[in-house]
Amino acid sequence: MEIEVIPVGGYSYIGKNMTAIRIDDEIIIIDMGINVDNISKFGERESIVNKPMKELYDLDIIPNDKILENYKGEIKGIILTHGHLDHIGAVNFLAPKYNVPIYCTPYTAELLKMQEKEYGVILSNDIKKISPNSTINISDKLKINIINSTHSIPQSIMVDIITNKGHIVHTGDFKFDNFPLIGKRTNYEKLKEIGRENVLLLISESTRSEELSKAQSEIIEKYMLYDVLKSLDTKGIIITTFASHISRLKSIIELGKEFNRKVIFIGRSMGKYIKAAEETNLYNFSEESEVYSDVKEYKKILENINNDKEQYLLVVTGHQGEPGSVLDKLSKDSFKFDIKDSTIIFANNVIPHPINEANRKILEERLKRKGVNIIKDIHVSGHAKAQDHNMLIKMLNPENIVPNHGDINKKAAYYTIAEEKGYKLGEDIFFIEDQQSKIFNI
Ligand SMILES: [Zn+2]
Repeated sequence: MEIEVIPVGGYSYIGKNMTAIRIDDEIIIIDMGINVDNISKFGERESIVNKPMKELYDLDIIPNDKILENYKGEIKGIILTHGHLDHIGAVNFLAPKYNVPIYCTPYTAELLKMQEKEYGVILSNDIKKISPNSTINISDKLKINIINSTHSIPQSIMVDIITNKGHIVHTGDFKFDNFPLIGKRTNYEKLKEIGRENVLLLISESTRSEELSKAQSEIIEKYMLYDVLKSLDTKGIIITTFASHISRLKSIIELGKEFNRKVIFIGRSMGKYIKAAEETNLYNFSEESEVYSDVKEYKKILENINNDKEQYLLVVTGHQGEPGSVLDKLSKDSFKFDIKDSTIIFANNVIPHPINEANRKILEERLKRKGVNIIKDIHVSGHAKAQDHNMLIKMLNPENIVPNHGDINKKAAYYTIAEEKGYKLGEDIFFIEDQQSKIFNI
């Protein structure tokens, strides 16, 4: 049997993730993401819709899938591991080229539906909703285990392709969260069961592999936020965080109750991800809080609550300092809402990229000049650290490993973890770059 890993994107640096795996004459595609940082160079995400495909390839915004034109194998399906933009943002551009079904969990499917509207590109592909911890038949020869995992967005999965010689596991983005606040823990039993059989190949994310630690649970984040809120005496409290981090948004509602503050979510992307969570029955935000995604609406609300700030806990977009975000506008006094007697809590990390770093610095300086109290880095990551990787390698005991979702430094850090377990570079662990495929003869 021949297995070929075709790294379309996400193997040389983080972003525009897309992997094709050929098993003899059949190909499965996993994820079709965009490079979010490259989009931010020229404005709004929706503005990429009218750009010709060639430009999107040239600007390194979408994965260059032309590499797949040279393969004789037949593409059987597209599987999406989770709903982050660097994993699903390019689906509308690329998937229509392949007349195959898209398999994803209900939350990811809901986001895909919204993305169709945002881009104005309706998918012709059949979108098949899959439940975490199920098995799907993708062809006569190939079955796939969909394994529930934990990350920083609901319903993330790992993909296990079952061949007649053994398993091929693709982790997607993950961390082992033993106290997830929405959904279940990663299905350790299934991973161990697969490990007892025969894992031919593990393709693993390596984003945080250089950190010799264990990824912290989202429950820790909730306690961190509690601790900060308990310490505050400002009238206004504004939290900014990832809009897609639904379990964190749920925690903030619960903390709002604890501190007798009504939670108000403000911003377009807050509205989008919250709506998807409600549509898929993950959590009823509207019952417990107020959500405003339309600028006219939240302009009015901010004006109305300006004199009663102590009654509210605002959650806004703009944690990376994005120009045009709610926090950016608040810092520029675009609304009749005075922020000088407020605390701003950044419940996020700055995604390392020169544009984000510059935007954040400018925003923070503007806020400081107004006398705003800033509290930063109240955040636990959604990515596996060294100990999570130790656990996964031990559970699966794979014959071969390919780290992805990272640059050479992150892969090298991953290698030191694998090396301790006897893996050797070039023998059973392989670094591959975008567009340079690797064949395994099994
Ligand atoms: Zn992710």
